[in-house]
Amino acid sequence: MAEEFIPFDKREGFIWYNGELVPWPDAKTHILNHGLHYASCVFEGERVYEGKVFKLSEHSQRLKDSANLIGFDIPYSVEEINEFTNLIIKTQNITDGYVRPVAWLGSERMKIYAKGNTVHLAIATWEWPAYFSEELYEKGIRLCWAKWKRPSPETAPTASKAAGLYMIATMSKQIATDDGYDDAMMLDYQGNIAEATGANFFMVVDGALHTPIADCFLDGITRRTVIDIAKENGIEVIERRIKPEELSQGQEAFLTGTAAEITPVGAIGEYEFKPGKVTNLLMDAYHKLVRA
Ligand code: PMP
Repeated sequence: MAEEFIPFDKREGFIWYNGELVPWPDAKTHILNHGLHYASCVFEGERVYEGKVFKLSEHSQRLKDSANLIGFDIPYSVEEINEFTNLIIKTQNITDGYVRPVAWLGSERMKIYAKGNTVHLAIATWEWPAYFSEELYEKGIRLCWAKWKRPSPETAPTASKAAGLYMIATMSKQIATDDGYDDAMMLDYQGNIAEATGANFFMVVDGALHTPIADCFLDGITRRTVIDIAKENGIEVIERRIKPEELSQGQEAFLTGTAAEITPVGAIGEYEFKPGKVTNLLMDAYHKLVRA
């Protein structure tokens, strides 16, 4: 599907920005802001299905939690953030799309200590239908190994969806893409399988779902949803440490995330998988649930 490319600062419509609906091209911040220089910035990624965000309150809550984890407070309640989100979706007339809330510290202090800097919140949304590529779903995507590892929870606030934690993900994804892969698999600081650059990982071993314990990377909302769906369907779910060489035990594998939904994996480095029965069952159930 060819997509017309319009840079994200030059689109039409409005962005919810600090309590106002601001014309899209005017939703700007000053160059000297703490979020840009020191990564005091958190964000969310949400999907709109038939005009409604799937698990909106969970995302709004995680946005607030992410900010608290890196030391600032978003001055709105979950209910208020939900309301602003629904307002911008309605204003932009989005049916099937993506929502990007972002919160960051402003410009009062431009040094490491920035307590008291104004907290800014913006919410943008655009049309972005989930689309189905038969080839992809038959073969699955190919991942290489990332050079960077997910840090220990003692090294970084790993449960926060903080912009700073995306530096190594961005670099890993760029290298993967340059080398002809779809994504990169990141190990954790102990050398276990962690997650892809923007999605969680599952594999199917003899009918059971195995997934890494999410204690040093994002415990995705989709990950938790898929675990619930699996259990409801009588599929055993085992959260455990998974060594890279244990990938040889898996017959099927997939990634989960708001953007990725459930994306079948065909290969990770030297390990190969084939999308199959369990992946297809979960994909069907997920596609129904998000539109329920
Ligand atoms: N890990 C990372 C690094 C991510 O960026 C995402 C996407 N938000 C996920 C996992 C999956 O999280 P969710 O299912 O909540 O979108």
